[in-house]
Amino acid sequence: MKIAVIGGGPGGYVAAIKAAMHGADEVVVIEKKRVGGTCLNVGCIPTKALLASSSMLMNVKEAKSFGIDIDGDIKPNFSAIMDRKNKIVDQLIAGIEFLFNKRDIKLINGFGKLVDKNTIEVTKEDGSKEIVNADKIILANGSVPVVPSMFPYDGKLVITSDEVLGLEELPQSMLIVGGGVIGSEIGQFFQNLGTQVTIVEMAEHILGNEDKDVAKQLQRQFKKDKIKVLAGVGVQTCEIVDNKVVATLSNGKSVTADTCLVAVGRKPNLANSGIEEIGIELVGRGKVKVNEYLETNVEGIYAIGDIIDTAMLAHVASKEGEVAAVNALGGNKKVNYSAVPRCVYTEPEVAGVGKTEKQLQAAGEEYNVGQFDFRALGKAQAIGHIQGFIKVLADNNDKIIGASIVGPHATDLLTELSLAVGLGLTVEQVGDIIHAHPSLSEGLMEALHDVHGECVHAA
Ligand code: FAD
Repeated sequence: MKIAVIGGGPGGYVAAIKAAMHGADEVVVIEKKRVGGTCLNVGCIPTKALLASSSMLMNVKEAKSFGIDIDGDIKPNFSAIMDRKNKIVDQLIAGIEFLFNKRDIKLINGFGKLVDKNTIEVTKEDGSKEIVNADKIILANGSVPVVPSMFPYDGKLVITSDEVLGLEELPQSMLIVGGGVIGSEIGQFFQNLGTQVTIVEMAEHILGNEDKDVAKQLQRQFKKDKIKVLAGVGVQTCEIVDNKVVATLSNGKSVTADTCLVAVGRKPNLANSGIEEIGIELVGRGKVKVNEYLETNVEGIYAIGDIIDTAMLAHVASKEGEVAAVNALGGNKKVNYSAVPRCVYTEPEVAGVGKTEKQLQAAGEEYNVGQFDFRALGKAQAIGHIQGFIKVLADNNDKIIGASIVGPHATDLLTELSLAVGLGLTVEQVGDIIHAHPSLSEGLMEALHDVHGECVHAA
């Protein structure tokens, strides 16, 4: 069986490796840029590498409060920070190429267009064409940033996340349109390095998918960081005047900045992909329609990742890649979407899984809540990160149905609660497990006990 994968992002490259592992005779990946996709080249990894640098800077600045004297200037070196990020990206890309070689996966550099259910036409950089035939095809074309037409996007002054991660100079000021995950992470990185950042967000608060109390905790930190957050405000006009970006806002004010980052969302990257020509059906917002086995309406063609109507996250794309590969080879697996982690790598970190309170309230569902503040934890005090809280939501049968964490190591701590939500565990089952002392995970146990009003260290 020959499998061809279009797109070498976290969906496509994982699908290819899994297909090779599960006995495909031949696996081909068609990628027009570098393997790793958005995630590795201009997404998850570069942003986290940059945030690690800005968080190191902030930690060093706080060293005195830990009893460490540091003499001399502490200042960021922007180009060295970018170099570090580039090296990490290059190293991880080389890692994927190594894995492809190890499994005899053929990588073809070029743009893949579907011709029929078994044929892809690949156009290479030099204009030459190659026809790839395959028994099964997995589409993993990913997504690109949305830039509404009112923004004079030029890739220099008005930019998207694709360009912001490659800036050569630190801008003095930056307007960020959209206070979602991308706008928040990038905004805090630049502000910590010395850029004056203004975030304009249409919704009532940043991180619109999370509960208000969670998002407000991060907004409070943004205030301390001196990031200007204008929530409940829209951009009405945006133009470039004298090499600056000038935006007028719905609150009657205007913002002038060196750079404007448009971070209002992403859309499937399906232009000229041939999918509609061969009759593949789409659903709302131009996403590819798949069944529960991730197969499109055209037999033998599967679709995964940001192009289908599931959460646009790397870990979701990879899991879908694994499942589509197994199914393309005759399996009948389904993805378990019950516990998809949502993570924001700001300081403090924000993480969530399962239902939020606002979702439960909108659905009129009854629930019980337990909450615990990090400041009451010995470990949080010891490491000097006391901001934030853990919130656990349970249904009337005591089943854990959602959790939110804002605070130190939230994105790692979340996994215990993801497991609980995914496996349908109860508050009592998880709360009865002995948690290490002193550890941040004790906070999870305390929040679980709080659901039953039995939190020992409740204030
Ligand atoms: P992509 O990663 O977009 O890969 C698709 C690949 O297909 C690309 O390499 C593209 O060049 C190639 N391609 C497209 N069309 C063709 C064609 N016709 N022929 C050949 N090649 C083609 N997610 C997280 O889970 N955690 C995070 O921390 C996180 N941070 C992010 C930060 C930023 C700034 C951004 C922008 C995104 C972030 N994401 C994060 C989202 C994550 O990057 C995506 O959900 C993920 O990359 C989607 O994987 P994918 O394989 O579906 O598509």
